[in-house]
Amino acid sequence: MIELDARLSELKALGLYRRTRRISGPQGSHVVVDGKPALLLCSNNYLGLADHPRVRGAAADAATRWGVGAGASRLVSGTMTIHRRLEERLAAFKGREAALLFGSGYLANTGVIAALARPGDVVFSDELNHASIVDGCRLSRAETFVYHHCDVEHLVWGIAQAERRGALIVTDSVFSMDGDIAPLEQLVELADRHRIRLMVDEAHGTGTLGPDGRGALAEAGLEDEVDVLMGTLGKALGSYGAFVACDERMARYLVNSARTFIFSTALPPPAVAGALAALELLEENPRRVRKLQTNADTLRAELEREGFDVRLSQTHILPLVVGDPALAVDVCERALAGGVFAQAIRPPTVPPRTSRLRLAVMASHRTVELRNAAHTLAQAARAAGFEPRQRPMVVADDEDFEDEPMEVVPQQAAPQVFDFEAPERIRRAA
Ligand code: PMP
Repeated sequence: MIELDARLSELKALGLYRRTRRISGPQGSHVVVDGKPALLLCSNNYLGLADHPRVRGAAADAATRWGVGAGASRLVSGTMTIHRRLEERLAAFKGREAALLFGSGYLANTGVIAALARPGDVVFSDELNHASIVDGCRLSRAETFVYHHCDVEHLVWGIAQAERRGALIVTDSVFSMDGDIAPLEQLVELADRHRIRLMVDEAHGTGTLGPDGRGALAEAGLEDEVDVLMGTLGKALGSYGAFVACDERMARYLVNSARTFIFSTALPPPAVAGALAALELLEENPRRVRKLQTNADTLRAELEREGFDVRLSQTHILPLVVGDPALAVDVCERALAGGVFAQAIRPPTVPPRTSRLRLAVMASHRTVELRNAAHTLAQAARAAGFEPRQRPMVVADDEDFEDEPMEVVPQQAAPQVFDFEAPERIRRAA
């Protein structure tokens, strides 16, 4: 049995102990954190819609009209009008035949992957994919080939080793902790050539990239080329929940086989109506997306001016990698004292030795705020003993106590690559 106190002490000693902070008021671009006002620079509410008056109003109206809860799984007590309406809008937004709502992105990824792969199959998954993808692979009991981050050559090698057992390639479009973008065109081409299904997680691409915020796939003109596109309602769309966009046959299949759809209560009407209002706002005024991108460029430029290296990210997610987890926490606390809230992110959310502040820009940030924030972050880093120009520092061993990182598998050593029990090289959390 796990010894809880010992485990918590171990986490503290490793600099990996977590607690949640208390936020008073809504999730706007400014928040009151543990009683102190700060610029919020770590939220996925990218377009600032979570507390938009129309979104709030739509959620409140829906509660009045349809009630607060959906009562049961949709296969039990039925699809409510509002679920159907949002699915139709999302399918049109993503340019696909169908959309299917799930309780959350976590539930969508675990449910869909486990529905599309089974024991004996091989799933190919980028090493920096989100935890929900990792867990979906585990749940499927298929063998998982974890290819090096965005490394198409490694993936090609893995596909060859799988000897036609490949069932699914799965990737984030925008990587949640790094802000870089998957090589979507090459993945589409590979999936097509080898007749393997492709699933793309657009949690961080929906509402932030592409024409009118339709996502990274739309930006690359590939919306129609993937089998399943997953998007969340809890990030740029300001609400809670998730959806997949796909063809009509896939949607029917998932209704009949995705256990997280079948065995979980449908999304509550206020969350659905809130997302619907946010989607309408986005469609009416796609300038929000451009503002987000301009803000990201501003923060990137200001951080570079301060000496930080943020060139790897092409998006609104900008990681300041400092290396050591305790150092990341120190920089975070100092920045917060200076009025900037950018949560430290440590293993197992990110790989060992890459603890960081993950900055997330919002469309509702003002230029001057971002400029000042970059300066505050640089001051905080220096005060904590980290010079922005310096390479990430590793003071203590910050490896996840649970997972030994998998060695880079030599390309000849095929057999153990497909052992689904082998620990992933990296485990990711929300
Ligand atoms: N995929 C990615 C890439 C994510 O970053 C997240 C949330 N952090 C999820 C899926 C899970 O989405 P949700 O929060 O709706 O469960």
